[in-house]
Amino acid sequence: MTQPPQVDIEIRNVIKEFAGRGSEGSTRAVDNVSLTINRGEFFSMLGPSGCGKTTTLRMIAGFEDPTSGEILLRGKAVQNVPAFHRPVNTVFQDYALFPHLTATQNVMFGLEMEGIDKTEARKRAEEALTMMRLTSVQFNRKPRQMSGGQQQRVALARALVKRPAVLLLDEPLGALDLKLRKDMQYELISMQKDLGITFIYVTHDQEEALTMSDRIAVMNQGKVLQIGSPEEIYETPATRFVADFIGETNFLTGTVEGREGICAMIRLDESTVIKAAHSEDNLKIGEQVTVAIRPEKVNIFAAQGVVKFDDGTSRPVAQYIEGLRTDPDINLVPGRVEYANYIGTDTRYTVSFGGGNQHRLVAREQNFGLRNDTYHEVGSSIHIFWDYETARVLRQ
Ligand code: ADP
Ligand code: MG
Repeated sequence: MTQPPQVDIEIRNVIKEFAGRGSEGSTRAVDNVSLTINRGEFFSMLGPSGCGKTTTLRMIAGFEDPTSGEILLRGKAVQNVPAFHRPVNTVFQDYALFPHLTATQNVMFGLEMEGIDKTEARKRAEEALTMMRLTSVQFNRKPRQMSGGQQQRVALARALVKRPAVLLLDEPLGALDLKLRKDMQYELISMQKDLGITFIYVTHDQEEALTMSDRIAVMNQGKVLQIGSPEEIYETPATRFVADFIGETNFLTGTVEGREGICAMIRLDESTVIKAAHSEDNLKIGEQVTVAIRPEKVNIFAAQGVVKFDDGTSRPVAQYIEGLRTDPDINLVPGRVEYANYIGTDTRYTVSFGGGNQHRLVAREQNFGLRNDTYHEVGSSIHIFWDYETARVLRQ
């Protein structure tokens, strides 16, 4: 039997309100958030700017007190524990290094404050800087003599040298350019797994959260909308906001016409009914819903001629269509290509379909073969199809 995971952090019904200045009303920055973060987990809080990520992190660190609710670190309520006594450390987006101290001195500072003697502190600081792949030349540089990426490594070394149980990272890679950010993402993940320290990682970058996290909490307007693994969040978004914020999504609106198990029949217009998966126990016939479909789940093929497959084989369209029509899991719809955007690895097709071609969705096709083999001309008649389970019925 596998052991249940040990809990490092528990946030219970936490609310944070900031009093307004002058005639301003108060702001509810965090609105009844509950989360459980396991030991050794890489946990991300993801959401747009202003959704309450930093405020949540600052309450865990002890820089802010909740207006109500409770925070527990390793099972102990921390209301009355000051920030410097909590087994957590924070890495800030702006690094917050001392400008007049060298890299080594910056990392030593916290250790010396704890009463560790200079020789030992220097040794540990240099180990931490080495782990962050800084060289002895860089040890003696001051922040202004280092690049953004190097400063970030110093900030990480300074946070890790004290071996916190939990490391809080607030958009730590936000100021780095794309290439360096990607490199640092992989370094952070492997370092986190090596050290076994719990990471709580704040980001507004959905791709970063998907790449790095064991689990993600998606936030908006102070609320947690969904918590799950990257796959769960991406493949089965719980709300329209989550589906829209993470990756690209097509939304179609319609009314529920029937349901059978997890399959719902959704009428889009007089002549068009599609199937989509739902997880609502009480989905009602006649209810208006949104269907979310990812562009890469939608397949597209020309309405005439032959269909070419990536293994080099081909089949007549008429025969291919017959096969799809008899598959109960498949939605098959005729349409027309409105736009085609070539983006290197893929082509994004905007396709119209349904009664009077009134609905649109984006289908993303990988450019696996020669371009002429896979390209669909703007204005051409095509068919699109997708497995109904890849389309989700959403209520909100
Ligand atoms: P995020 O980190 O997700 O961008 P924040 O947690 O920084 O969001 O902010 C959430 C909300 O709380 C915002 O509306 C912000 O303006 C407000 N806020 C944050 N800190 C304060 C403060 N000290 N005083 C007043 N309002 C604040
Ligand atoms: Mg923030």
